[in-house]
Amino acid sequence: MTGATTTVLSGLDQVRTWQDELYRDLHAHPELPHHERRTAAAVAARLRETGFEVHEEVGGTGVVGVVRNGSGPVVLLRADMDALPVREETGLPYASTAVAEDGSAIMHACGHDVHVSCLLGAAALLSGGRDHWAGTVVALFQPAEETADGARGMVEDGLAEIVGHVDVAMAQHVLPMPAGTLGTRSGPTLSAADSLRITVHGRGAHGSMPQAAVDPVVLAAMIVVRLQTVVAREVAPGDTAVLTVGSVQAGTKSNVIPDRAVLQLNVRTYDEATRTRVLEAIERIVRAECTASGSPAEPEFELFDRYPLTDNDPVVTDRVAAAFADFFGERAGELPQQSASEDFSDLPRALGAPYTYWGIGGTDPEAYEAARAAGRVAQDVPVNHSAVFAPVIQPTLDTGTEALVVAALAWLAAD
Ligand SMILES: [Zn+2]
Ligand SMILES: [Zn+2]
Repeated sequence: MTGATTTVLSGLDQVRTWQDELYRDLHAHPELPHHERRTAAAVAARLRETGFEVHEEVGGTGVVGVVRNGSGPVVLLRADMDALPVREETGLPYASTAVAEDGSAIMHACGHDVHVSCLLGAAALLSGGRDHWAGTVVALFQPAEETADGARGMVEDGLAEIVGHVDVAMAQHVLPMPAGTLGTRSGPTLSAADSLRITVHGRGAHGSMPQAAVDPVVLAAMIVVRLQTVVAREVAPGDTAVLTVGSVQAGTKSNVIPDRAVLQLNVRTYDEATRTRVLEAIERIVRAECTASGSPAEPEFELFDRYPLTDNDPVVTDRVAAAFADFFGERAGELPQQSASEDFSDLPRALGAPYTYWGIGGTDPEAYEAARAAGRVAQDVPVNHSAVFAPVIQPTLDTGTEALVVAALAWLAAD
């Protein structure tokens, strides 16, 4: 551990005096993707207070803070700000009661409030400790991660002109691991994701007269079953893919055969070749089943919510992992490959910067250990997007804040 790290982190006691409270406030007031106005205002105010040059409304509600501190590397740290349309059931005293314009409940069910709080804490520490490092820190607060277009929106709104050349970009996510622990991983870490909406056509008729119909319910059912063979029979055993049919909709009444069915699919893959192969297999199967049913019109395919592969740079990851091992000791380990997806990598890809993305634990360590001992981690530990996902405030915030500072200083305070 460098002396600079210890000195910069000595301000953590001071940061905690506002960071816990800020976290509770963000958690109680979640905002949907592209609507993060209150969050963005709080971020901008805190960044200004801590000596950052602040750029607001980048890609809608995005905020970029910059501290230039002499010549040296440019380090970009990113947090996402948006929440999800989930009704919170944590029972926490600071649980969300927020409601969207359409009446649906909103919750920070993915923990992006942790990311915002940690990055604001790290930004304050780095700014306060600028006598002990040289270079530039970019603290980037991104909207709309959950809709896969927030990072791209900031890129398209001129992010490169604001930040210029970036040497390294880093981000983190709170995960269902014991709080206080963290994990890094080299190479493909988060999957690429694709969502598909497929409309297949039948011929509607009275439920008692199937001879007059082409039944899209049966057609959709055959497609759902046949799609189960894509991963099982077409993806090589050493490669990984997930194909989930999350929604099937057809018909309105028991005695009416409808004229169409709509299926929504989600696909996760870890390399371009597998991604292409799975998407092609889906189209082939859907078209063939439509032919088999005598479907009167071609099926329609619409791709949406497409996330890039998060493929951590090995050199950057090694440097961060070494700094984490030095600072956190055995609390730092290797992150297993995640089936979730992220649009973070759209930022460094557009800026031409290498990147890494790590995970921090948010689960109460005792609860985690009890679940592990009972062999029930998958059943008993709430995961992101669940209505009962509730990271413990400490040591989660401390760990996430320290991780960002330690990782940034691995570049900025290097000899
Ligand atoms: Zn999420
Ligand atoms: Zn998330």
